This record gives sequence, C-alpha cells and structure tokens, in this order.
Amino acid sequence: MTNTDVTILGAGPYGLATAAHLRSVAGLETRIFGDPMWFWKSQMPAGMLLRSDWGASQMWDPKHEYSLEAYQAETGDHFSAPVPLAGFVNYALWFQRKAVPHLETRRVETVEAENGHFRVTLGDGEAFTSRRVIIAAGICPFARRPAEFANLPMELVSHSADNVPFSRFRGKRVAVIGGGQSALESAVLLAENGASVELLVRGAPPKYLGWRKKIKSLGAISKLLYSWTDVGPAGISNIVSNPPLLRMFSRDTQNYLRKRSIRPAGAGWLKPRLEAVTMTCGRHVTSAKPVGAQLQLTLDDGAQRVVDHLLLGTGYKIDVTRYSFLSPTLVSRVETADGFPKLQDGFETSVPGLHILGAPAGWSYGPLMYFVAGTKFASRTISNYLANRARKA
Ligand SMILES: Cc1cc2nc3c(=O)[nH]c(=O)nc-3n(C[C@H](O)[C@H](O)[C@H](O)COP(=O)(O)OP(=O)(O)OC[C@H]3O[C@@H](n4cnc5c(N)ncnc54)[C@H](O)[C@@H]3O)c2cc1C
Repeated sequence: MTNTDVTILGAGPYGLATAAHLRSVAGLETRIFGDPMWFWKSQMPAGMLLRSDWGASQMWDPKHEYSLEAYQAETGDHFSAPVPLAGFVNYALWFQRKAVPHLETRRVETVEAENGHFRVTLGDGEAFTSRRVIIAAGICPFARRPAEFANLPMELVSHSADNVPFSRFRGKRVAVIGGGQSALESAVLLAENGASVELLVRGAPPKYLGWRKKIKSLGAISKLLYSWTDVGPAGISNIVSNPPLLRMFSRDTQNYLRKRSIRPAGAGWLKPRLEAVTMTCGRHVTSAKPVGAQLQLTLDDGAQRVVDHLLLGTGYKIDVTRYSFLSPTLVSRVETADGFPKLQDGFETSVPGLHILGAPAGWSYGPLMYFVAGTKFASRTISNYLANRARKA
C-alpha cells in the first residue's frame, strides 16, 4: 500500500483548479481521480448555453495561463458568450491536459478513516492511505426528486440530472416542472427538439437576469453593483463574491444572502426562446399516475394533464451523507447544518484532514461555491492553507 499526502476526489472545475494549484506547492504529493468534466459531458443537455458570463466561465490555474482566451488562441475553437456547453467542456478538457496532466481517470470507491489518516480504495481495487482527502465530487447525487414522483419508471419521469436525450421526445407531450435556469432551458431545448412542452411553475412567473447585462455595460458603476463572478444580485454580488467578508456576517444574514443569490432565475437570452413553450404558473402537481404508456398528472386546482414524459427541473438539495463513497462511520463524524458540512479554515470539515469543495461548501463559504467562478477563491485558499500546514509540519 502506497501513501500520499493529498487525494483529490473529482475532476470537475473544483478538483481540477485545486490540483493545478497544488502542483506548485513543493513537497506535497497529490493524486487526483475522476473522469474529467463527467457531469458536464454526460449529465447536461446537448445544446445548452452556460448561464455564467465569459469572465465567470474561466478555469483557474495559479498564473491563469490557461484562460478561455489562451484556449481559443491555441486551438482556434472560437465561440463567444453565452458560452456553449460543448465549447466549455472542450476548454476544460484542454485545461486538464495542460494544468493537471497527472489526473488518474479511475473512480474512487470508498474513503474511510484509518489511524488519523484516510484509506482510499479505487474502483479497480487499488488501495492506499492519504493524509488528507479533498472531496470535489459535485452535486449529482443530490438531485431533488419530490416524493410524489418516487417509484415511477424512468421512461415516464426523469430528473434533469439524468440527461435523457431530448431528441427522444420529438412529437411527444412533455411536462417540465421548475422555474429556474435548468427547467427553463430544458423546456426550450425540448421544444426545439420537436416536443410539445408545458412548463409548470409552482410560484410566480420566472424571473430573468436581463437587467444584469445592461447594468454591466455601465463601466465603473456596474463594478460597484456586480462582481466579475456573475453571482448574486446588484449590491449583494460584491459581498458574496468575497467569502472572508461574507463569513463576518451573522449566520442568518449569510443564509439569507446565499438563498437570495441562488434563487431560481433564467438568463435573459432564454426569454424569447420560451415562446414555443406553454407556461402555467402558480400551480403544482399533486399526484402522478401511469396510464398505459403515459402519465396522468393532477394539479392542485384539480386540472389534469396526460403526458408522455415528465421532466423534473427541481434542482438539488445538498446532503453530504449521500456521497456513497464516504464510509458511514466517516460521514457520521462530519458536522453538518441542513445537509451541508460545517467547514472551517481551508474548507476543512470537523474531521481533521477531510476537506469539501463546490456547492456543499456553500453553507460555510457562500453561494459563490455553487459556480465555476468560485474555483478561483477555493483553489487559492485551500492550496495556501495546505502549503502553510506543510511548512509547519
Ligand atoms: C444544468 C446545469 C447548468 C449549470 N450551468 C452553470 C453555469 O453556466 N456556470 C456555472 O458556473 N455553473 C453552472 N452550473 C453549476 C455547475 O455544476 C458547477 O459550477 C460546477 O460543476 C461545480 O464543479 P464541481 O467540480 O464542484 O463539480 P462537478 O463539475 O460535478 O465535478 C465533480 C466531478 O467529480 C467526479 N466524481 C464524483 N464522484 C466520484 C468518485 N467516486 N470518484 C472519482 N470521481 C468522482 C465526477 O465524475 C465529476 O467529474 C450548472 C449546473 C447545472 C446542473
């Protein structure tokens, strides 16, 4: 059994940026595992455009050598904002080859505590010990599937995270539930793939971020209102984009600012494309039952719909106990709040040496952690923290 200093679990934007930074920390042996950009390659709909703007869709290495601009200059793969999914994935894979060539694409099966360190077992049976483990495994296991749709077959009900190909629904009736970017964009892409689509929004009509682009063209004033991270509404954006500042606020205020910054809203450029979608707001589905090869939905006003498929754009609910690779004994030692790990300096959980990045870090470090733009802060912070610890050891 070999030993290593740091193991990074996950090769999405957070794992890759962190590995790129830790490469420059002398004397710290780091291994990183995962299929690079798997969530983006496999679980997001073909044809999707990123909601985050150009500056907020960059990957981060210590000198920012591998920017979107550098990628385009080297490869000639030219696209502009809104950034297309395929372009972003190709850029991130290029970033990985340049900045994280030591990535091991194997899966981590289990992480267990062992004598103050961690025992990591890979899918192919290799096992080793690691002094620290950084979890950067994303949100896929946290897909929110409301109870009324449990036990229904996948042919009839899927979550947007299941990424059932939309071309399958040409000529079919599809209902989409949700009022955020994922639900709105899925509804648009389904309609553009030839489905007849009804979007069911529980609350008021969806909000759009159209204003943001106009305000951002105002130069100096816009900088006071919005951070480059593209996270959070005007005024709040600069606070939530500075996690050390955010962490000075009371817990209630931090919770408010987080929820306010990630509330469902669609990109302004989606609005005209929604014309082909029927939208029903202020209604929710109370029950769903299979009828032959179709699904009968009953709404809270008693109205019914018969559809070929129901797509849940119902988002994600963080719950770290759902990371199946964490042994039950280990995860039971992670102190949590509302499913999020409570993190200390350096993104460290209550288990010394176990760190968690990405959206699960949102309770402690704020809404920036839900987005690619947060990788700049997270990767710098954790690499500085580990470098300091290594120096002191
Ligand atoms: C539809 C949709 C659209 C989005 N659009 C945007 C956007 O425009 N801009 C933006 O900033 N954010 C967007 N997001 C949020 C986006 O998901 C996050 O910003 C980003 O993916 C976070 O990166 P991550 O590294 O934490 O997670 P991920 O990108 O999910 O990466 C996690 C990685 O961990 C790996 N992994 C998991 N388990 C294991 C294991 N056991 N062993 C090895 N590897 C493992 C996975 O394979 C995956 O590659 C969007 C999310 C969704 C759902």
